[in-house]
Amino acid sequence: MTDSSAPPFLPFTRPSIDEATIAEVGDVLRSGWLTGNGPKVQAFEAILSQYFAGRPVRTFNSGTCTMEIALRIAGIGPGDEVITTPNSWVATANVIIEVGATPVFADIDPRSHNIDLKQVAAAVTPRTRAVIPVHMCGLPCDMDALYELSAKHSLRIVEDAAQAIGSSWKDRRIGTFGDLVSFSFQANKNIMTGEGGCLVVNNAAEAALAERYRLQGVSRRGLDGIDVDVLGGKYNMTEIAAAIGLAQMRRLETFNAQRLSLAKHYFHCFGTEFEDELGAELPIADFDQSNWHMFHLVLPDRIERATFMQRMLDLNIGTGFHYAAIHLFTLYRKRGFKPGMFPVAERVGRQIVTLPLFPAMKHSDVERVVAAVKTILRS
Ligand SMILES: *Cc1c(COP(=O)(O)O)cnc(C)c1O
Repeated sequence: MTDSSAPPFLPFTRPSIDEATIAEVGDVLRSGWLTGNGPKVQAFEAILSQYFAGRPVRTFNSGTCTMEIALRIAGIGPGDEVITTPNSWVATANVIIEVGATPVFADIDPRSHNIDLKQVAAAVTPRTRAVIPVHMCGLPCDMDALYELSAKHSLRIVEDAAQAIGSSWKDRRIGTFGDLVSFSFQANKNIMTGEGGCLVVNNAAEAALAERYRLQGVSRRGLDGIDVDVLGGKYNMTEIAAAIGLAQMRRLETFNAQRLSLAKHYFHCFGTEFEDELGAELPIADFDQSNWHMFHLVLPDRIERATFMQRMLDLNIGTGFHYAAIHLFTLYRKRGFKPGMFPVAERVGRQIVTLPLFPAMKHSDVERVVAAVKTILRS
């Protein structure tokens, strides 16, 4: 059924791609140099390194393999425990299994939805080697507490900053400090390359190792010297993706400013009575540090999320859910995880919903979404 008077469909996210980007991708295709550590990949890495205060940066073909390679660089493998959050995209935990280590979960904070560092401390054992915190929706974890904990127990940190490009902690940009910091350029992220990711590392040796892990473990010398000393995969970024990334980097600040303005408008439109009146929870109103990758609500238990999502769809508004609790997936239940182990992540995983937020949205779109949410929750 189509209703000609219905407002156009509003997706929960959409990348912003301008004509200049399309032209630059065309130039790459015409050049014939499509992959193989070419000029676009090198330029993109140089720009990223500059953005992250001169720290070395290497690119990859997904945020997932970026984190997997970070764990390999940190020397994590069989017999090692890695503590992470049960409320993230499943990639965050899958990479731990992928390198042969054991995932250990610590529940999330009910307000920030970031991993609860007190529970991380309680989960540390003599086999714990690393922690993978997630800056959920771009809201930074408590970096002071995180790196104190890592120093105290000699733990490596792989920050899953997939959603956090442009976020900061106490005026320091995420990625410019800390240990290994992983970003994603998947199409939904604040800047994107279609698929892609990058890792900020600590030194030239780690950067060289990252390059070997991303391409079959190969290192070259002279015109025909070649050796393989580690088991690498096929994880390099293409020139096409890097061209998109270079164009997106030019617009990152504008994108994030637009997101911030829309997030502020969401809070303005929901108003101070919203939580008390309707029992739904708004995110933390962090207008200084978050890059507003997503705007979520936690719905009250009286409405099923699928019902809410359907009613929004009936009003031509797309929503998402980020994320279901990882430990309740079959793969993880087979490893012994059970319902009730991480109650906050379970409730958030069941009732969280992502509202539309992307740079090309208008303030009037925000008003439309808020009106729809209030109507549905009041009915
Ligand atoms: C997007 C995302 C990833 C994975 O990135 P891909 O580029 O899709 O592989 C990992 N963790 C979080 C929190 C993400 O949002």
